[in-house]
Amino acid sequence: MFTQRFVYDALPGRVVFEAGAARTRLVGEVERLGASRVLLVASASEEPLARELVAPFAGRVAGVFTGVRPHVPAAVAEAARALAGSVSADTLLCIGGGSTTGTAKAVALTTGLPILAVPTTYAGSEVTPVWGLTEQSRKTTGTDHRVLPRTVVYDPELTVSLPAELSAASGLNAMAHCVEAYWAPRRNPISALAAEEGIAALAAGLPAVVADPGDLAARERLLYGAYLAGSALAVSGTGLHHKICHALGGAYDLPHARTHAIVLPHVLAFNAPAAPHATARIAQALGANDAVSGLRYLAARLGIPTGLRELGMREEHVDEIVALVQHAVPADNPRTADRVALHELIHAAWAGAPPATTTARPSTRENT
Ligand code: NAD
Repeated sequence: MFTQRFVYDALPGRVVFEAGAARTRLVGEVERLGASRVLLVASASEEPLARELVAPFAGRVAGVFTGVRPHVPAAVAEAARALAGSVSADTLLCIGGGSTTGTAKAVALTTGLPILAVPTTYAGSEVTPVWGLTEQSRKTTGTDHRVLPRTVVYDPELTVSLPAELSAASGLNAMAHCVEAYWAPRRNPISALAAEEGIAALAAGLPAVVADPGDLAARERLLYGAYLAGSALAVSGTGLHHKICHALGGAYDLPHARTHAIVLPHVLAFNAPAAPHATARIAQALGANDAVSGLRYLAARLGIPTGLRELGMREEHVDEIVALVQHAVPADNPRTADRVALHELIHAAWAGAPPATTTARPSTRENT
């Protein structure tokens, strides 16, 4: 019998996706928003490109903020807000990576100004209502619809200059968003569709971009996959996998993308027995017979090590991570992740052992 139960909170936003769009269509999108006093936000290294892109509508640019820093320090947010106020900005135009988008979001959070985003990496922040701010080394995040960009212009040509290593890092992060969308707390069939298409695009684009960063067709696939990954994450949220990676990143400062790439097949192998339909869809999207080996194969092609110990994590850290994650696992993860199960999973990820699949004890329905 076909039963379907879900809640889907659709997010608004206009997306323009086309190679060359930042040069040919940005002015039209600025006009469409009725913007006459734009505050341009770009990091110092992104500024030359950003200035080139706004040249056709330079008369509408009221100010330029280039003080972008990773993870949006509170002082940077304050400085950007002050500039927006002093130039009487009516629109925020951010051109750059996730840190640049995050800076524009910090301004939108307190001013309500609309954001037009032109992303140049695969972070995906441009399609989420999530903001982040850092104060005294502590990062606070929140969700507010005021920070969701009104319009996103995706131009794969802008991503060609992103080095192979950074491309692999943010592309793999996007892959984790897609896979986890199948069991994240607000999972739903619509995000699952986006995730499925996203996995296929990322799996095809990642190795091709790493082999030849100048391959525009591969860049297009990767950016399309990153957009879908961001959309899936924005609606479905994060689950067991992100909890583990967050704990590992916070406790031992392990490199973000490689940690994701190593842990993801283990979480998938753990959840797979209780989520067979999702696992089959992930395998199909990866073009693999088996989803877990498909992810491992992709990571190997990208030169990702197999175990967390190769990133510097020590065996005695496994217990610490289990303790940190144990109480953070979403209650409706497809399988009950108790202390023993978590230890087995994290230890295998540490050792680089093949992910273990054991008998399932489903904790909830599988509905995607
Ligand atoms: P980033 O924005 O810090 O950029 C990394 C580096 O790449 C910077 O030096 C940047 O100048 C450079 N760069 C950007 N585009 C380039 C290009 N096309 N060519 C050459 N160099 C380029 O890193 P990121 O990975 O894009 O974003 C990470 C940040 O985004 C983190 O703070 C993360 O928390 C945040 N994020 C937020 C969300 C959300 O929903 N709020 C989602 C994903 C990521």
